[in-house]
Amino acid sequence: MTLLTVRDLTVRYGASQALFGVSLSVAKGEVVALMGRNGMGKTTTIKAICRMVPSQGDMTFADQSLARLPSHRAARLGIGLVPEGRRCFAPLSVIENLTAAARPGDWDLRNVFNLFPRLDERQSQLASSLSGGEQQMLAIGRALMTNPRLLILDEATEGLAPVVRQEIWGAIRNLKQNSGLSILVVDKTLKELAGVADRGVILERGRSVWSDDMAKLTPELAGRYLGV
Ligand code: ATP
Repeated sequence: MTLLTVRDLTVRYGASQALFGVSLSVAKGEVVALMGRNGMGKTTTIKAICRMVPSQGDMTFADQSLARLPSHRAARLGIGLVPEGRRCFAPLSVIENLTAAARPGDWDLRNVFNLFPRLDERQSQLASSLSGGEQQMLAIGRALMTNPRLLILDEATEGLAPVVRQEIWGAIRNLKQNSGLSILVVDKTLKELAGVADRGVILERGRSVWSDDMAKLTPELAGRYLGV
């Protein structure tokens, strides 16, 4: 069953156009990698899906049109965003960050702490005092507390030490195996994406130019579009 469908998405920032026709879909329980070099439109695509920038084109989520919804309504439909740069509430504690986001469903504090035991150990610490990796875990935990049907991760491992990156990837694999969540993931590390994603979409200058099973992403395509 298709959960999210995006068809021919265009976005402008004032006079400059960032997206010229992006199409992608995410099925229930599927992990989709959104790829492309810097500035190709990945974050803009995510912001459009979350209704944080105005866009044109068809977008449906769980059979409902996203087109005219404000962002809080898109969130309430079940789109959980882990934004680039984490954006935890710095003056709030770990537990306050998590409970502020909570909506009824399977995900509660206990499940988040099972996924990230480090957050359990730091429940009353302020978000501002956490390490970068712990803040990333908190940002993921906060999105899970909204009990989303689709989790969107924008550069969740960026700027983290290799060992912490592996913890985040471990959590993403865990979510894929055990939660049945649909996940749309943007990241620069192709090897890790290839290990977790079922399908991939590549953006090139604001257009989706490749969309297929991740296993079909050849070194030639990766070289041409991703520069790796
Ligand atoms: P990165 O990997 O660097 O985050 P990206 O693929 O996520 O890149 P976007 O951030 O979506 O790319 O940017 C797509 C294009 O839109 C770029 O040309 C960028 O300069 C432009 N852009 C992004 N945000 C704005 C903005 N607020 N105002 C004007 N132009 C913007």
